[in-house]
Amino acid sequence: MALKVVARKSGLHGMGLFAARNLAAGEKLIEYKGTRYAKGVYPAVIVDGMTKFLGLSDGTGIDGTGWAALANHGCEPNCELREEARGGRLCAWLYAVRAVAQGEELVWDYRLDVKSSKEAYAVWACACGAETCRGTMVNPEKLRGRKAPGKARAVHAAGDAATEP
Ligand SMILES: [Zn+2]
Repeated sequence: MALKVVARKSGLHGMGLFAARNLAAGEKLIEYKGTRYAKGVYPAVIVDGMTKFLGLSDGTGIDGTGWAALANHGCEPNCELREEARGGRLCAWLYAVRAVAQGEELVWDYRLDVKSSKEAYAVWACACGAETCRGTMVNPEKLRGRKAPGKARAVHAAGDAATEP
């Protein structure tokens, strides 16, 4: 089987993952392999703008050690990680979300979860070069929530007020 992806130096950040041949939209590429972590357990992450820890939807995680973990973040991704259940646990695979030309760097949207928007831009800044680059690898939904904290409070206050007709 010909390799679908290849690891080499990236113009974005460190090593990256690249299409070894033309890839079709929806093509399954490579498994995100690494050290397994139980629900709620995290590796001693060094916050230096690099992460290989993948949080899965059941709360468990994978600290990536394989090629898939080399794929960089991009705000306009050509790939995404999809979960699938195998042998009673979740695993994750990188998929192409559109046709990708041979030699193109493979990126997916990390959608990181961080403690503050300050950290989002200071530590997890993004310079992927996409027109829609949002400037950070952090999950945009979480950022919106943090930028407008008054919104959530307003809804709560309305519920508390006994002014309904
Ligand atoms: Zn970006």
